[in-house]
Amino acid sequence: MKKDRRQFLKVASLSFLGVAGSAALGPVCQAAAPGEGSFTTAKNALHAKKWGMVIDTRKFAENPELYNAVTTACHSYHNVPTIVENGMPSKREVKWIWTDGYHQTFTDQVDNYPSHEIEQRRYLMLCNHCENPACVRVCPTKATFRRKDGIVVMDYHRCIGCRYCMAGCPFGARSFNFMDPRDHIAQVNPTFPTRMRGVVEKCTFCSELLAVGKMPLCVEASDGAIAFGDLTDPESSVRKLLAENFTLRRKPTLGTEPSVYYIL
Ligand code: SF4
Ligand code: SF4
Repeated sequence: MKKDRRQFLKVASLSFLGVAGSAALGPVCQAAAPGEGSFTTAKNALHAKKWGMVIDTRKFAENPELYNAVTTACHSYHNVPTIVENGMPSKREVKWIWTDGYHQTFTDQVDNYPSHEIEQRRYLMLCNHCENPACVRVCPTKATFRRKDGIVVMDYHRCIGCRYCMAGCPFGARSFNFMDPRDHIAQVNPTFPTRMRGVVEKCTFCSELLAVGKMPLCVEASDGAIAFGDLTDPESSVRKLLAENFTLRRKPTLGTEPSVYYIL
């Protein structure tokens, strides 16, 4: 076996072992915020010490059309393929933001008997841009990394398709391109890169839009049901919502410290 291949396998196996113990360890290394790929940062770029999101699930329940509006806004702009088999979503589907039920979303809540209305709601899910992201710890090529502002991003060119990050993420937030995604995009947005078969992808917290002074697309499409801002700023919209409402995060006991909060 060649030396460089031996070294890669050693790094990969050590990284894989990190899956189990990742939550118990300290914060992962943070990379400088380079934007993504060829995206540039404008003078009016939006900045935060730690970006976070608050989803008001009550507003989505009041206006269920918002689920589709938010998902479509994200997936169409980001060239996320729609992969169906026999008219049904495929096990090989790619998703950046999606919905599921209460018990699938909040799997380790102590309240086993929520109100019927809360139990019937759908809940949006996306990458939590965790403070201690297990996905980053296990990636053998550093194709995924956490920026200083808390956003966990991907460099698709460095992804070797090993899917360790998918095994490491306890939230199912990552998708693998089992087939060429370009064959499954109704209308390609030329301003955002398409991916290729064999790479992993996920929500970027719209880092490419923040870099040009714009808010994430799901936030803009949510009619005020999703807030986005700096979790370290007590005056930010997200901190005010957190101060005024009861909120949950997904799987808090795992210690990944999600940056996405839910108002119930
Ligand atoms: S939700 Fe999953 S993919 Fe996103 S940062 Fe956390 S561990 Fe990584
Ligand atoms: S933050 Fe951006 S990439 Fe993430 S789910 Fe919302 S629209 Fe999609």
